Amino acid sequence: VTLAIGVDVGGTKVLAAAVDTTDPTTILVSHRVPTPTRGPEIAAALVDAARHVLDEVAAKGLGPVAGVGVGLPGLVDLDGMLRAAPNLHGGVGAPIRGPLSDALGLPVVVDNDANCAAWAEVVAGAGRGASHVLLVTLGTGIGGGFVIDGRLHHGAHGFAGEPGHMVVDRAGPLCPCGRHGCWERYASGNGLGRLAREAAARGDAPGLAALAGGDAEAIRGEHVAAAARDADAGALAVFEEFGGWVGLGVANLVNLLDPDLVLVGGGLADVADLFLEHARAAFAGEVMGAADRVPARLEVATLGSDAGAIGAALLAVPAPLPPFAAR
Ligand SMILES: [Zn+2]
Repeated sequence: VTLAIGVDVGGTKVLAAAVDTTDPTTILVSHRVPTPTRGPEIAAALVDAARHVLDEVAAKGLGPVAGVGVGLPGLVDLDGMLRAAPNLHGGVGAPIRGPLSDALGLPVVVDNDANCAAWAEVVAGAGRGASHVLLVTLGTGIGGGFVIDGRLHHGAHGFAGEPGHMVVDRAGPLCPCGRHGCWERYASGNGLGRLAREAAARGDAPGLAALAGGDAEAIRGEHVAAAARDADAGALAVFEEFGGWVGLGVANLVNLLDPDLVLVGGGLADVADLFLEHARAAFAGEVMGAADRVPARLEVATLGSDAGAIGAALLAVPAPLPPFAAR
């Protein structure tokens, strides 16, 4: 038994979890704290969450903890420093690894949160057995983690794997990153809400406006999902359009990197049944040489909202990879 703690830092909460790295899908102990809004307080919050878990692991006699992994929402350089983070105000440049390691007396690794989730899926989730796996997390925005030839791909500086900010329409809406028409303006939860508001403004989705209290501008992704569950035709059409945008971006990624498997994670994975077939159809229509290539499979990630913490723990104490499928 080799225990490790993974700490996943989200926009609103920090999840710390202890797992047995040889059987990481069961979270043994976990603790949540709110994400601080001021940068200098972030390291202290991570120490607090991890220490709670360490104390409970000790109280239950589960065994020694070998290391701590942290997943941060943004660009993390190879030294574990957060360099850009649109959703973690004040977190950029705040020391994380050193203070955490000093306070806990354990080795600490820091990586991007979606990289952590991708690693978790390859070691213990839907990516088991595949050597080339791209995870795209569809949530408020879009994150990504790419496993290439069995290794997490960091790029030259740690910043690889941000598919949400590939531009799919330069005349598209402004993105918080400063460019126009980024993929995450279309294929994220925010994008879903925007596609729905546009449909309602055209008069194509009367049921959606009613769900949002009669105000088409108040429509959010949650309203679209709820209406689609009630078989609202306008909402189902929005999901078809949404799936088309998902498939277009996936085709771009597959053209670049030729994976075995593309996994959809993040909050939208919970409603994948509403758009995944549309995404697969769009992908098949967009990817280069579709009729003549071995197609990448497009599937749903299986570790859910625990993936980031599990993957962070696995990165802290590397477990052997499961054997790759013969090829
Ligand atoms: Zn962008």
